[in-house]
Amino acid sequence: MSDNFDYDLAVVGAGPGGYVCALRAAQLGLKVICIDKRMTPGGTCLNVGCIPSKALLHATERLEEAKNEFESLGIEADNLRFNLARMMERKNKIVSDTVKGVGFLFKKNNVTARTGEATITAPGKLHVNGEKLTARHIVIASGSAPMSLPNIEIDEQTIVSSTGALSLPKVPERLVVIGAGVIGVELGSVWQRLGANVTVLEYADHIAPGFDRGLSKQFQRSLTKQGLKFRLSTKVTGAEKTPDGVKISMQPAAGGDTETLEADVVLVAVGRRPITQGLGLEALGIALDKNGRIATDAHYKTNVDGIYAVGDVIPGLMLAHKAEEEGIALAEQLAGHAAHVRYDAIPSVIYTQPEFAMVGRTEEALKADGVEYRAGSFPFMANARARAIACTDGAVKVLSCAKTDKILGVHILGPCAGELIAEATLAMEFGASAEDVARTCHAHPTLSEAVKEAAMAAYDMPLHI
Ligand code: FAD
Ligand code: NAD
Repeated sequence: MSDNFDYDLAVVGAGPGGYVCALRAAQLGLKVICIDKRMTPGGTCLNVGCIPSKALLHATERLEEAKNEFESLGIEADNLRFNLARMMERKNKIVSDTVKGVGFLFKKNNVTARTGEATITAPGKLHVNGEKLTARHIVIASGSAPMSLPNIEIDEQTIVSSTGALSLPKVPERLVVIGAGVIGVELGSVWQRLGANVTVLEYADHIAPGFDRGLSKQFQRSLTKQGLKFRLSTKVTGAEKTPDGVKISMQPAAGGDTETLEADVVLVAVGRRPITQGLGLEALGIALDKNGRIATDAHYKTNVDGIYAVGDVIPGLMLAHKAEEEGIALAEQLAGHAAHVRYDAIPSVIYTQPEFAMVGRTEEALKADGVEYRAGSFPFMANARARAIACTDGAVKVLSCAKTDKILGVHILGPCAGELIAEATLAMEFGASAEDVARTCHAHPTLSEAVKEAAMAAYDMPLHI
């Protein structure tokens, strides 16, 4: 590429969108710099998101299993205790090893890594901590940060975002979670398993908005059985610190009298906002959409030539793998290849017990669009492997086109749903029909047989129920 630039590509942000874009571009021969203001690469996902949350979910799930299931498995474990400091140490070590891995990959692929806040001063030009850099292409992968509500100030001590909730120094007696979305139920589960009395307040009339409604009811029943309390159709209007903790104000979502609730710690989990400050976007005239995310065309180009954006900072699901796919597609395009992301085949997973996973469209969305579809379901209760591992809550639901049998969506509530959804995603990526999946041999005894049976139910009828 041109000798007039220091780099072919400068990527701002070393989260899953940015670091993956940088690595792929370097693999394809571009000279790349990746800049992040965090001391460690990996962005939200590796530092304060996916990885630390899954480390705590894993540890507390094992604890729950030992407490509640060992006896029925014929295992006697007396005097079961946990050590929160050790659990947090393990989580921190997983994070530090994983971010080191990204540093290693940067070195291996000759990506220059720079720590500092980057401001784009003009197309092709950036400032990083006062140093001037030039790059033919600039990719903004600045990600997102936790949102709060009006009248609620997050201090990461008693009123925490997910970041504070990943590192509480002790188990709160009363934890109130605002929002029964992904973070609310994942981190709510972590602290409930450790002994906190957890109440989740949710504006909508169901938990896990965006996921299958019917399975969401089953999901709520499973979490309630574990001890989580939910108050749905409830709008939180404020939270104020008191000498004893925090007082939360809320109203019925439809309007009505204000009620209060006391907590020791409040987790605000009401969504995330794109990071668009500090990048120089306003001076450059980079257009945002109505939700404040950077607007791009189908090739991730902003309205300013030479400046692109991927990941949480642009519209779409705020998920690490969505950011990664965009980063890869963009890197390949910048290196002169054709690449795209198939947005109707991006899975979403909630890593609770049971897990909740989906890909494609929900029944609600299909109905709203007047699409004629068939639905086939199969409960894990009827799956031999699920019975053997004592995880029978939940079901698989396959939705297919009534005319062509093409799979339109798959929804899984149950054990290892996050792994099982990969088969459904692959099937959708290849335009498979329910019959294709139903006629594919699945190993026995596996949980994946429930996916096969749900596909059989969608196109004809299941066998084992
Ligand atoms: P980020 O990961 O947010 O990275 C952006 C980076 O840009 C940051 O490191 C930031 O410091 C840097 N930056 C911003 N501005 C500048 C600047 N001016 N100069 C230099 N650097 C800058 N997703 C999943 O798919 N699966 C999960 O299990 C999952 N779990 C999650 C759990 C939690 C608790 C949270 C909070 C999120 C979770 N997510 C999960 C979401 C996932 O973390 C994000 O979708 C993903 O990190 C987005 O990647 P990104 O690269 O767009 O942005
Ligand atoms: P979310 O959008 O999943 O859920 C926010 C919830 O808060 C919604 O259900 C909403 O109705 C509720 N809410 C909003 N205002 C409210 C109010 N005033 N009172 C009561 N409830 C209110 O957001 P999140 O859980 O904060 O997660 C943020 C992002 O991080 C999500 O986009 C998610 O994709 C990503 N994330 C993903 C994973 C995963 O993939 N496993 C895990 C964690 C986070």
